[in-house]
Amino acid sequence: MRGVRIIRNVAPRIGNQGFMPDLAHNLDAVHQRIALAAQVAGRDPRSIALLAVSKTFPAEDIRAAHAEGQRAFGENYVQESLTKIEALSDLRASIEWHFIGPLQSNKTRPVAEHFDWVHSVDRLKIAQRLSEQRPDNLPPLNVCLQVNISGEASKSGVTPEEALRVAREVASLPKLRLRGLMAIPEPAGDVEQQRAPHRALRELFEKLRAEGLELDTLSMGMSGDLEAAVLEGATIVRIGTAIFGARDYSH
Ligand SMILES: *Cc1c(COP(=O)(O)O)cnc(C)c1O
Repeated sequence: MRGVRIIRNVAPRIGNQGFMPDLAHNLDAVHQRIALAAQVAGRDPRSIALLAVSKTFPAEDIRAAHAEGQRAFGENYVQESLTKIEALSDLRASIEWHFIGPLQSNKTRPVAEHFDWVHSVDRLKIAQRLSEQRPDNLPPLNVCLQVNISGEASKSGVTPEEALRVAREVASLPKLRLRGLMAIPEPAGDVEQQRAPHRALRELFEKLRAEGLELDTLSMGMSGDLEAAVLEGATIVRIGTAIFGARDYSH
């Protein structure tokens, strides 16, 4: 329509970058989901730690989440994570870095040197290398044994049957501290269906504890199945999409 003047709001945006209000809101929403599920389960919400999974997102997003109070971050790819850890070295004392991706044995050294936790220990050889390569000036590396709880051919992780034997060996390594179990269950439709593999992991966890292993960590639950995981006893939930948004793997 001719003659209509379109007046654009050209006021400069000062302060917040575009993503920050979203990020604060998303973090709040995730904390609320955890609190609600904990309430239903009769658990103390403080017994569930939030690991923000930042893979594919830039260091600035991690810095923004840190400014919102988030302290633990999960990364999947060795090279990408080292670049970000370096870029955020000024925050090192107040960030906990968790490696959660598949780990090849020729890439264990930088992980042993730069991370606080590894959730994805899926065979003894990886654990042995991490222990040998953990620098002496650092505390033992916290690790979880990854269990292929849904029995998927494509998934890494020890079988539930071999978990006790491998866990005993991992627990005996000098520079590792075996904290518990981790799983990535097959996606399932509703909360009831989602609970089954989480329950199976919790039962395995209890069995290992009954065998004398001092475990305190059940790493399970992602953006789509957080509630099911908390209902079944998760102590760390690993949340990416619900905090940072959808991932872009195109580059
Ligand atoms: C990517 C990833 C997550 C986070 O998944 P979302 O569905 O984005 O929350 C959690 N755990 C592992 C092992 C992952 O690789």
